[in-house]
Formats: sequence, structure tokens, C-alpha cells
Amino acid sequence: MKKVFILGSTGSIGVNCLSVIENLSEDFEVVGLTVNSNTELLHEQVKKYNPKFVVVKDESASQNIKDKLPTECELLTSEKGLLKASSELDYDIFVGAMVGFAGLAPTIEAVKRGKRIALANKETLVVAGELVTNLCRENGSEILPVDSEHSAIYQCLIGENLNEVEKLVLTASGGPFWDKDKSFFENATVEEALDHPNWKMGSKITIDSATMINKGLEVIEAHWLFGLTVKKIDVVIHPQSIIHSMVQFVDGSIKAQLGLPDMKLPIQYALTFPKRVENNFGRTNLPSIGSLTFFEPDLNKFECLKLAFDALTEGGAAPCILNAANEVAVSKFLQKEIRFSHIPLLIKKALNSVENIFSQDLATIFECDRKTREYVQGLI
Ligand code: NAD
Ligand code: MG
Repeated sequence: MKKVFILGSTGSIGVNCLSVIENLSEDFEVVGLTVNSNTELLHEQVKKYNPKFVVVKDESASQNIKDKLPTECELLTSEKGLLKASSELDYDIFVGAMVGFAGLAPTIEAVKRGKRIALANKETLVVAGELVTNLCRENGSEILPVDSEHSAIYQCLIGENLNEVEKLVLTASGGPFWDKDKSFFENATVEEALDHPNWKMGSKITIDSATMINKGLEVIEAHWLFGLTVKKIDVVIHPQSIIHSMVQFVDGSIKAQLGLPDMKLPIQYALTFPKRVENNFGRTNLPSIGSLTFFEPDLNKFECLKLAFDALTEGGAAPCILNAANEVAVSKFLQKEIRFSHIPLLIKKALNSVENIFSQDLATIFECDRKTREYVQGLI
């Protein structure tokens, strides 16, 4: 039995992960769950999956579940509890399904213990890719990407030599606005931006898809996961989200991975790799899809995507600044305090103003994240 610890179990990836494990119940068991504050759903999950421990990050919310847990289920709270669970409690697979920078510290604890990391939380690699991948090498920890693009590339690279890769091609749905004029962004509403055509996801990543910074974060994630320079990573808009990404080799051959836009498949692959396991998920019916189309992304329109390429090229803590500014901007947009078109402006200002530091120690990364948040809050 493989013991699975899911961080962010009440989110879109977390809930999908639990349903994947239900189908794999002969080989996988849920031992730990963490949430920010949704104790109602957590309580349902505890009744169903019977974990040995849970962490509720929000201490006041933890009061709601304290007396409802079975005696054998340990309750931890706050960020300290999250770190303690990651660094001390018993599990084999760490599923990083929480959103944002908050995923970094617990992931590092799991990496230091040499665990398998099924990583959805791309922000971890964006802000500290060098540190995390070095720690993985030192501790024999392996990251299995859950992000569908990176899972696709991982699958395309099986049996191949990285030296023979000419480039990676990340596909992007383009989000709800890919064919709108830039002038539309001025008055784009939260509801419109949350209305993603293909994927049902948490609100932060859905806004990231609308600005296309999500693809930029994924370019940075791919750079660290596969060790390729920014020049060897392309983005192409593919509105049907059937091809999840591609690898082009030095002989011109291209391998692609296809499937329905359903995160259960990359989640299952990250858990069962190197095995493939039968399931009852939907199957892709190509004739019913009819055609697959591709477009060049417009970097003038999707400035956030360009800023992400620039930040990766600049290096150092620039991706951390980009990420922190984006997290603040997205949260303010969701609260209707700024316009959609303000998001790239705030990120650009942060990249130009917050000092970039070329050192990858954890304290520096935390400091850079804090300073950037403070700076962007100040602008708003
Ligand atoms: P979500 O908002 O649906 O869920 C986030 C989860 O994290 C919730 O369980 C929440 O309780 C928990 N959480 C939030 N803030 C926390 C904090 N400070 N401390 C502890 N827990 C916290 O998000 P999601 O869509 O499931 O995305 C999760 C991650 O996976 C993100 O990094 C996202 O970019 C990535 N991802 C998601 C998808 C998708 O289809 N949803 C696809 C690819 C990658
Ligand atoms: Mg993705």
C-alpha cells in the first residue's frame, strides 16, 4: 500500500486526486489531508477516506472540526502544523495540490525526505526551481508533474535522450479571451474571466489562464523540470485542449500526448508511474472532435505571458517577483478592487522596481516574495 498525503484536498486537484485514489484503492491509501479553511468538505473527506492526520491551516476554522474527528485522527493547525506533517509524519507520496507560494515550504520538507512529489503546485517551481530541483537531486526525491502539459512532456520523453530534444511545445487553451481584442481587457469582468471554456479549476489558476500568465508559469516550470533553456520552450494556442503538449526532437519528429481535458489522467499517472493502470475515465473520440487547430500566441495582447518569458530570461529571483505580484493582483481582481488590465501593469512595475537577487536560498526567496507583495499592495 502506498500512503498518500494530499495538500489542498478540498481544491479542484485535491478532489480529483481523491476520486483517482478511489479507483486505485488496492494499492493506494489516503493517510493525510490538508486544507486552508474548508472544514465542512474536509469533514466529509475524513468520514470517507479515514486519514491518520489532517491539517487545517486557518486556526480559527480548525475549531469547527476539532470535536468531529475520530480519536485516531490527529489534527494539526497553522503553517507550523503543515510543516510538521510534511517533515515528520508517515507517508510515501506527497501530492502538492495547494495553490500559490504557500506550497513551497511544505514541498521542500517532503523533498528533503526523498519522497515522491506529485506536483500540481507550479508556483513552487516558479519561485524556487533551482533550489527545489537541486534538493531533489541531493535527496533522491522525484517530481512527477501533475500539470497536464508537463505530464504530457514527461510521457513523450520516456525512452528518449534529453540531448536530442530540439524544443518543447507547450499547448495553451488560450483561456476565455484568446480571440478577443486587447481593448476588451479594460472592462473584462471577474465572471467573464472565470468562465473557462475547457477546464474546471480553482479561481486563481482560472484567472491565470485568462491572462495567459498560467502558460508563462508553465514555461518556467518546464525549464526547471526538464532542464531546457528558455529558447527551447515554445507556446502554441490550441483551443480544443486535446493535445496536452509536444516534444520536437533534433530529427524534426514531434511526439504529442493527447487526451480529454480531465486532470484525473495526469494525477493518476503521477501516482502510478512507471505503471499505467486501467480506469473508467472518458475516452477521446477524435472523429467527434473533428479538428485540432493551432495559433501563435499574441504576446502584445497577452503581456503577462511575455513578462514570464522575460523573467525567466532575466533569472535570479525575477520569477519569484513575477509570481508574488501576480498572486496579489489576481486576488485583488477577484475582489473587484482592480481591473483585469491592471494585472500585467502591476507585475511589470514589480519586476522593474523590486530588487532582483541572484541567490537561491530559501530565506532570500521568502524575503523577495514578502517585499514584492508589500510593494504591489502599496501600489493598489
Ligand atoms: P483550488 O483553489 O481549487 O484549491 C486550492 C487548495 O489549497 C484548497 O484545498 C485550499 O484549501 C488549499 N489552500 C489554499 N491556500 C492555502 C494555504 N495558504 N495553506 C494551505 N492550504 C491552502 O486550486 P486548484 O485549481 O486545485 O489548484 C491547485 C494547484 O494546482 C495550483 O498551484 C494550480 O496552479 C495547480 N494546477 C491546477 C490545475 C487544475 O485543473 N485545477 C491544473 C494544473 C495545475
Ligand atoms: Mg497546465
